[in-house]
Amino acid sequence: MHFWDFHTHQSGQPYSLYQADNPATSGVGACSVGIHPWSVGLDWEDEFKRIQDQSSQHERVLAIGEAGVDRLKGPEIQLQKDAFYAQASAAAELGIPLILHCVKSHDLLLEYLKSAKNPPCIIWHGWNQKPELATQLLPFPLFFSFGKHILHPGSNASKWLATCPLDRVFFETDDSGLEIGLIYQRASLLLQIPVASLAAQVIANWNAISKRKIS
Ligand SMILES: [Zn+2]
Repeated sequence: MHFWDFHTHQSGQPYSLYQADNPATSGVGACSVGIHPWSVGLDWEDEFKRIQDQSSQHERVLAIGEAGVDRLKGPEIQLQKDAFYAQASAAAELGIPLILHCVKSHDLLLEYLKSAKNPPCIIWHGWNQKPELATQLLPFPLFFSFGKHILHPGSNASKWLATCPLDRVFFETDDSGLEIGLIYQRASLLLQIPVASLAAQVIANWNAISKRKIS
């Protein structure tokens, strides 16, 4: 049994989606590539072309991201939106998920989801928003990746994990430096489901939404 970590900034971990700047120079494991909303520059389209090339050439690029919108940090929102929309279409074309970074911008995400003809499966990483928002997102191909916030009883993340449909769930360490096993153990306790079942569940979840499979 192994515990997949669906979003991490720590390189060299087995069974993890490493947030890579460049898959050509970032080891051999699975990774995600994308333009983070904080670093969308005026020349983002050049960067985007690089990401398109890398993601189509390297099968081990399992997801596009993290991409999204952030009202607290980064360039003007229109620029962030343009880069996000482009990356979302790229993910949809490849048939792989997009790892979402979304801060104070859920209205923009809903706007996108309501207008998009062919949205990719989107994994909202580091989920810790109100369960009411999560419920609003359920009609869309939206998934939730839980990390350090579920270690706090009573957190939004803990509350939503307890009611979230199991086929929408993923786990991650992000930049926390925690052991991924700890997140699974906590989730297992919250859900009263054995860790081994959870480990198998999230692999099945991934394979149901991505053309690039994991095991
Ligand atoms: Zn991250």
